[in-house]
Amino acid sequence: MNQLAQYQREYEAARAKNLKLDMSRGKPGADQLALSDELLDARWVTPSKAENGFDCRNYGILDGIPEAKRLFGELMDVPPEQVAVCGNASLTLMYDYIAQCMLHGAGGGAPWAKQGNVRFLCPVPGYDRHFSILEHFGIEMVRVPMLAHGPDMDLVEEYAQDESVKGLICVPKYSNPEGKTYSEAVVRRFAELKPAAQDFRVIWDNAYLVHDLYETTDPLLNIFDAAQACGTEDHFIEVTSFSKVTFPGGGVAAVAASPANIAEIRARMFVQTIGPDKLNMLRHARYFKDAAGVRQHMQQHAQILRPKFEAVLELLERELSGIASWTAPRGGYFISLDLPAGCAKRTAQLCKEAGVVLTPAGATFPGGRDPEDRNLRIAPTFPPIEELRAATQLLCLCAKIAAAEKE
Ligand code: PLP
Repeated sequence: MNQLAQYQREYEAARAKNLKLDMSRGKPGADQLALSDELLDARWVTPSKAENGFDCRNYGILDGIPEAKRLFGELMDVPPEQVAVCGNASLTLMYDYIAQCMLHGAGGGAPWAKQGNVRFLCPVPGYDRHFSILEHFGIEMVRVPMLAHGPDMDLVEEYAQDESVKGLICVPKYSNPEGKTYSEAVVRRFAELKPAAQDFRVIWDNAYLVHDLYETTDPLLNIFDAAQACGTEDHFIEVTSFSKVTFPGGGVAAVAASPANIAEIRARMFVQTIGPDKLNMLRHARYFKDAAGVRQHMQQHAQILRPKFEAVLELLERELSGIASWTAPRGGYFISLDLPAGCAKRTAQLCKEAGVVLTPAGATFPGGRDPEDRNLRIAPTFPPIEELRAATQLLCLCAKIAAAEKE
């Protein structure tokens, strides 16, 4: 029997098992969520006054209670005055910031929407939700390939000479989906950028700043320190959240920016809300106390996640060596798998027909179009480890079938 026929027989046997496995979204597993159950205790918000005496049960305080601003300031390594803690999701903060730029402009400039064609640089592969926000506002996405230590900065520098390029959106630490962390040299080149657009903004989505899988973290240079030395701190808007620290949707999100930018953001918030959920901030701030408390908590997440990532990597090594390549991240939520050209969609389709749901092939590129149809994002966090192994095994089989069909 030839190799393809052998794979197909194995596939039919797997399909007959009627599997129902989901590796599509980067969601914490139930055991990870349970790590934060203690937060639900009423004692964290009793008494309900923040350290400045403000009653967190009431309206008021737009940009966060002092202890929450201090906590996020410590995590992002910026002064608390340059932090606004608001809402539950960083995605909303990114959406709002871009909406604000489109409608009212950035840094006193004209509204982006009135400046003609607006373009944004997008390191690829990247995060599908970033692309969705840009697409929603009709912002043209210009792809910049990711290299080993961050985006191709030669290209970023070249494209930034065009005034219609208003910014870039990226994940500098444990990037989605590759799990890469930008090197010091890359961060410095970001800080040194001299874009043609006076209202250029980089959305620095630091979603995985404390999401290490191992004891030693991938170091990321503080973008505001580097930018301050170059006089470019207005170029950067940093966001993060506790979505994958405590509860997605029940966490707290924060934005850090230069004094001028944070003032602009606060002015918008004044119109948007009479006050965010400060009880949620209070319980998080009291529960963690400080950045060290958050890091300690994240070690428990790592203990659950490390074996899952390692199980996937082991299977990829065993089954796909010589056929595909993949990343082996030291943190974050994803593994990025590169198959032979033209095989990603077919692999995802075969997986789906056999009961394994993956992030759609192409999703890691703007418009859902992977020019080479190679990349798949693997999200190992949600399924229990035995299910994860079964799903990965099937994924490998489907990839081998797709590659053999191409031959
Ligand atoms: N940013 C990145 C890079 C992500 O991977 C995710 C979720 O997967 C988010 C943001 C969403 O974060 P939030 O829940 O704070 O909106």
